[in-house]
Amino acid sequence: MITLFIKALVDSFLWCFGKNKLSILTYHRVGGTGDALAMDEILFEQHLIWIKRYLRPISLAEGLALQAKGILPRGSVSITVDDGYVDSYNIIFPLLKKYELKATFFISTIGFENGYLWDEKVAFIIMKTKLTEINFNNQKYSLLTHKERIACLTDCLAKIKYETITERDALIDQLVIQSQQTETPQQFLTKEQTVHLHKSGMGIGSHTHTHPILLKENASIALDEIKQSKAILEGIINSPIKYFAYPNGKFGLDFDVTHIEMVKKSGFLAALSTDKGILKDQKTDGFQIKRFTPWDETELKFVLRLALNYCQ
Ligand SMILES: [Zn+2]
Repeated sequence: MITLFIKALVDSFLWCFGKNKLSILTYHRVGGTGDALAMDEILFEQHLIWIKRYLRPISLAEGLALQAKGILPRGSVSITVDDGYVDSYNIIFPLLKKYELKATFFISTIGFENGYLWDEKVAFIIMKTKLTEINFNNQKYSLLTHKERIACLTDCLAKIKYETITERDALIDQLVIQSQQTETPQQFLTKEQTVHLHKSGMGIGSHTHTHPILLKENASIALDEIKQSKAILEGIINSPIKYFAYPNGKFGLDFDVTHIEMVKKSGFLAALSTDKGILKDQKTDGFQIKRFTPWDETELKFVLRLALNYCQ
């Protein structure tokens, strides 16, 4: 009964506002290991069930192609997963197969060499060190309780994120030296897993090489980050990489028009931000496509918020 009620509500929204619009969902890490801030696996599976029940899931490539022709079905929604952590393969991929869904995975390619991205190195040090306090950037943090460690981690990530790559590495070195933790566990996709995702019909996209804030880097470093990741991924899957997702992804804060031009010149067909919204027109917005990050834990909230995303 409740399902029929939600379905009628969503269909009426889509009928009024959903014409030729592509909603693109953003996910990151899923599952209990690694990132303390990862989405719960059961909730992620629930999201997939709700997406199938009320909307029309479609691959990003197909969604963009149909939208460009003006024939995208109402309620079309594409799934994207950023960064390239191994739960993309171990948890997300099996669930996508179970529900016959497709997603596009945006990968920061330094993870293939290191086995992690910079944020997980910081997380591993702070959450696992035997130290009961740590100094970071002239501030002392107590690490006696789990709650204090989470607070310290949140603070450190926020401070490091908006530094240049060079400054970021120097700040992380402060933590490595104090904790004497030089090793971070492998938790990234392997090249073989990436090939398997691609051969199974999943999309593979670029997310730069080292996941910097492009706006903080000079032009040559930013361009190199964009081009290098594309070349590495094309070498791995032996196929063109057509789509790009800006790290952190907020226009004006993390990237600007200069980076949009770089992405165009590097041969990508479209690029995705993390600004909230929906794709209505690829001619004007094709290189700063807005996305939507769903976190709701109840069916009604999740579906209503998604339906409301079409009303713009
Ligand atoms: Zn990212």
